[in-house]
Amino acid sequence: MSELIKDLDIIAEETKTDESCAVQVSKEENTGKSRKLYIESYGCQMNFSDSEIVTSIMKENGFDTTNDFNNADVIFLNTCSIREKAELTVRKRLTDFNKVKASKPEMQIGVLGCMAERLKTKLLEEEKIVDIVAGPDSYRDLPNLVKTVDDGEKAVNTFLSREETYADISPVRLNSNGVTAFISIMRGCDNMCSFCVVPFTRGRERSRDPYSIVKEAQDLFDKGYREVTLLGQNVDSYKWSEEINNKARLEKIEKKEEVEVINFANLIEMVANVSPDLRVRFSTSHPKDITDEVLHTMKKYENICKYIHLPAQSGNSRILKMMNRTYDRDWYINRVDAIRDILGEECGISSDMIAGFCSETEEEHQDTLTLMDYVKYDFSYMFFYSERPGTLAEKRYEDDIPLDIKKKRLQEIINKQRAHSLERNQLDLNKVHKVLVEGTSKRSDEQLQGRNTANKVVIFPRENYQKGDYVDVLVEECTGATLIGKAV
Ligand code: SAM
Ligand code: SF4
Repeated sequence: MSELIKDLDIIAEETKTDESCAVQVSKEENTGKSRKLYIESYGCQMNFSDSEIVTSIMKENGFDTTNDFNNADVIFLNTCSIREKAELTVRKRLTDFNKVKASKPEMQIGVLGCMAERLKTKLLEEEKIVDIVAGPDSYRDLPNLVKTVDDGEKAVNTFLSREETYADISPVRLNSNGVTAFISIMRGCDNMCSFCVVPFTRGRERSRDPYSIVKEAQDLFDKGYREVTLLGQNVDSYKWSEEINNKARLEKIEKKEEVEVINFANLIEMVANVSPDLRVRFSTSHPKDITDEVLHTMKKYENICKYIHLPAQSGNSRILKMMNRTYDRDWYINRVDAIRDILGEECGISSDMIAGFCSETEEEHQDTLTLMDYVKYDFSYMFFYSERPGTLAEKRYEDDIPLDIKKKRLQEIINKQRAHSLERNQLDLNKVHKVLVEGTSKRSDEQLQGRNTANKVVIFPRENYQKGDYVDVLVEECTGATLIGKAV
């Protein structure tokens, strides 16, 4: 597995690793079902969340799960297309699986998610390395697709829906610590950032029924979970009405008639009211959509965590325009100022940054560094630009920054982020932080690990505390990645 993680272009230990390049594997569960599913998932948290939905659907249809693909009847690879490297890793994995299939021909291999949607029948017809191709909106159809392959055919469904949110499916929690869980609140994306494949692979934006979200949060709380993270590509643009959940259509009818609409601020309030002991987080916030109403709601509820993932991508207005992010540097700074005014210095802010986008000059790269100096992010996910087929940038602009320059600029961004992470963590020294315990620290069995409201990892001696407890911890030391202290 460590080889795999290395392959995925994760940058460096102390720097926040790229969440969009992590990997997760199904767990071993034997309840006496007739067949075994192995599911391996790449990419963002949304993908991991989808794998929990897929597992739920397959369990309802005669499957147990396994953590060893050699023992599987069906292997699903839930894929990511965001950067070229992610796709290369998936291809390598398909080769591994096909080696096992060579001596076990009845084994089925399916590709799910963004890469399935992007390449459609190519993996199946031209490359002949899979039996099933299923896009992100076709997971309810997976049992039929497996049946089709049982009957000797190949199976494809890459239909993108305008309505599907899987609202009624209760996800089977994979790799869960029993304390924190993710809840998908919307699907797709209506933004057209020029570098990004997501609008093509995950379809139009639609918001999930808020009452099903609250029910899922309540169920998790009743089972002992103490934190939920609400997930979407652009959570601040969440918009739902009883009548219609497709955002573009909703905005059309909203202008003409009175419809009752639940927005993101309303939604976080509803989830926060499940219990004051249930922490609420969310990701990702788009700088063009985050409102003061959301910030005031965060302030009003102690259990809505004071942490915002607000990807800037670049600090230069010309590049932001070319990226089609629909905000400029001043707008972004205004949003950061609003966060500081309303929620104070303690609120954690993180970003995604892309180094070496098409035609970026050295001065424009410096603008990214000076924006970082202004904001002082707690951490960032940092990438160099990777041209993706079919995106607006691929069609309009030349990918003209040489790889060595992209890497040099990325390294400068990483170095700056490291310094800022340490600086921000030092501000937490000698203060008491309310920590939700997630489990034993990776470093020692004698230490527990949890997070404070700003999403920072805090480590402290176990004493008699347990997973799921809230503990007041006095922070006495820190690194750029961790706060270290003792319970008080
Ligand atoms: N919806 C989120 C937003 O707008 O901030 C981001 C979702 S995307 C899965 C995660 C991150 O991947 C992006 O914020 C961006 O920094 C990075 N990314 C997307 N496409 C990329 C590309 N072609 N090359 C490099 N990084 C990319
Ligand atoms: Fe991609 Fe932009 Fe949508 Fe994020 S907001 S998923 S970067 S298109």
